[in-house]
Amino acid sequence: MILHGNIVHAPVLGELEVRTQGWLVTEGEQVAGVYDTLPPQYADQPVTDWGDALIIPAFCDLHLHAPQILNRGIGYDKELLPWLETYTFPTEARFGDCAFAERVWKAFLNHLWAVGTLRFSAFATVHKEAAWRLMELSEQSGLRGLVGKVNMDRNAPDALREDTDASLADTEELICRSREELRRTGLILTPRFVPSTTERLMEGLGRLGERYHLPVQSHLAENPSEVAWVASLHPDIPSYTEVYDRFGLLRQNQTIMAHASYLSEAEKCLLQERGVTLAHCALSNTNLSSGIMPLRHHLEQGLRCCVASDVAGGNTAAVAASVAATVQTSTLHTLRHPEHAPVSWVEAFWLATRGAGQFFGDVGAFLPGYAFDALVIRPDRLDALMERTPAERLEQFLYHGDDRNIAARYCGGTFLPMPFPLT
Ligand SMILES: [Zn+2]
Repeated sequence: MILHGNIVHAPVLGELEVRTQGWLVTEGEQVAGVYDTLPPQYADQPVTDWGDALIIPAFCDLHLHAPQILNRGIGYDKELLPWLETYTFPTEARFGDCAFAERVWKAFLNHLWAVGTLRFSAFATVHKEAAWRLMELSEQSGLRGLVGKVNMDRNAPDALREDTDASLADTEELICRSREELRRTGLILTPRFVPSTTERLMEGLGRLGERYHLPVQSHLAENPSEVAWVASLHPDIPSYTEVYDRFGLLRQNQTIMAHASYLSEAEKCLLQERGVTLAHCALSNTNLSSGIMPLRHHLEQGLRCCVASDVAGGNTAAVAASVAATVQTSTLHTLRHPEHAPVSWVEAFWLATRGAGQFFGDVGAFLPGYAFDALVIRPDRLDALMERTPAERLEQFLYHGDDRNIAARYCGGTFLPMPFPLT
């Protein structure tokens, strides 16, 4: 394919590359090159001309909860632990009903497509059948996803608390089935968080990770009460991070930990050593009064970070909104900690595209050999009244754009229509 338009991406943290009225050439699933002038060898090829629109990398969301797409905007007068009990767990318990799950999953995948999240790593629920259906539908959708069957065998309501051996057996069944039947969707090990998983379950999941070379996702140090709870559950282990590590769940360069707002220096060293990706969820941290991740500090210390929505702690799955919230919370953090410069919107955009995309490999920027995942962005009528540079147009989209501004989506080198058209 050859696309023409205003090409904007952030190949490096803090650096925006703009090609006004440039050319982007793809071969198969990948970007072949980005040019100011179309090279002569492509002169006879058909061109998709997007005119003044922006062509930007699609968003990757490395932390969100698929069933909680139903709970966006609910219950933010509570902190994390009572919020889970009151809203999250009762909603997730309904996913034992496969017909209900199917309806929600289709709407979830359509919604991710709409807001421009074309690669994701999501928690499903504890239910094997529902998790498998999400994997199958994700495969059909054309999006690229990692899906986790959630594991919980303690401190959960009866409807969601699993038998340890059954939890492990169900997980292994999904691992094998997904490897046989799916190409674009994979399983990611998903212990909900330390308080929900016994040592025997964590140990079993660590073994599965080793045997099948699997990625892992979970939560870490989101809220002070949760951190204190983990310390009381595991008094013999020095820190929250080390609990995961003790059971083989910080898998090298294959682990996503959401939040990571309350970490000791030793924990940061360990996370850096294991190449863990920390998913910063600014909206969720604000909605549930969890705190503010010291993002600038983490970045300066060389920790891998990305921006994620954490639906439904986050009130919207639109990653653009999380990019803006990342800048806003970082700015507030700087008021108390002037030694940390706030994160800029260009940096936050990188964290939501290339920063998150690197978990999937060469994804998230328009560099040769990278997967071609892109959104075509048009200004709304109001913004179009004013002349702006492509960079300014992108900034405006991140702060107040929505799916109505997204004119087209490409994933893995092909145009991606709405996955499950409404009938
Ligand atoms: Zn979460």
